[in-house]
Amino acid sequence: MNEPRPDAGTDNTVPPRALVISLVALVVAGLAAIVWPSSLADLAGLVWLLALVPAFLLAYYRGWEGATAGLLIAMILMIAIEIVPALVIGAEVDWRIAGGVTVAFIAASLGLGSMAELLRRQKSSAMDLALSDTLTGLANRRMLDIFLGQHFAASQRGMPLAVVMFDLDKFKRYNDTYGHAEGDEALRAFGEILKRETRDSDIAGRYGGEEFLAILPGGDALAGRRYAERVRETLAGHEMPGGNRITVSAGVAVSGPTMNSAAELVRAADASLYTAKAAGGNRVEPASLRTGKPEAQAIGGPPADAR
Ligand code: GH3
Ligand code: MG
Ligand code: MG
Repeated sequence: MNEPRPDAGTDNTVPPRALVISLVALVVAGLAAIVWPSSLADLAGLVWLLALVPAFLLAYYRGWEGATAGLLIAMILMIAIEIVPALVIGAEVDWRIAGGVTVAFIAASLGLGSMAELLRRQKSSAMDLALSDTLTGLANRRMLDIFLGQHFAASQRGMPLAVVMFDLDKFKRYNDTYGHAEGDEALRAFGEILKRETRDSDIAGRYGGEEFLAILPGGDALAGRRYAERVRETLAGHEMPGGNRITVSAGVAVSGPTMNSAAELVRAADASLYTAKAAGGNRVEPASLRTGKPEAQAIGGPPADAR
């Protein structure tokens, strides 16, 4: 994955409290319809408004899908109480009530569904904005922290996890030479490369000014190194619109049994990055043995100093 997940953090589950309220509303509506005094027959349709409570609540949590389910439940209850018994005993059905209630149900559910859907879209785009970097469109630091937190926890249960910290080389000089706007252009171009090179199950985002972090769940030291090398090579071969070129360095780290927190994993990637910079930049520093899982080396990844 290379862009913030649109539904990241959006919880569509209907809470038990809403289900209980819906059930109570349906029971009260049903009982009221059964015991409604015939002297108030003209107002009998009103009790069925209560049966719209589930449609309200479900639309809030599930948009159109919820509104439709709520409508269906209300209709079934109304038919079961107003129409079926009358047909069974051969009595006359009050089609005025049944018809009026049906029309009201459908109209209310259409209104509820479209309103709820609008709200859900607004909420989703607000979350997209909150979790994405405006310059590159990649995940922002907040999103990266959430994603990393989840996958670090899984890595503590044995799932491999690799992270790669990227930092553009001599970017201050690039800005000073070509201007801040060209610098922004370079950041965008690097963002596009990350989007193209990052698998859907992984995430790459902007961690800071010209630092980017990629999180590769299920990835080992070798996978992290190969990915970082692909990104580094692609950028090195990329010509900016103005004809300029820029390079990137990367540090790889893998989660291991000795690591206590996601921050420690990021620090390990930072330490590898520092080594890559110290060696001249435009290079990838593999995960260090000290921080990585032993099996990462066993599958064939060369030792940290074999470049
Ligand atoms: P090194 O090779 O050691 O990484 O050197 P560097 O110059 O890249 O590193 P340094 O941390 O000294 O400079 C980072 C620069 O990134 C400084 C800052 O002007 C630039 N920068 C940070 N955010 C942005 C941004 O959003 N747009 C632009 N154009 N430049 C930025
Ligand atoms: Mg930097
Ligand atoms: Mg830099």
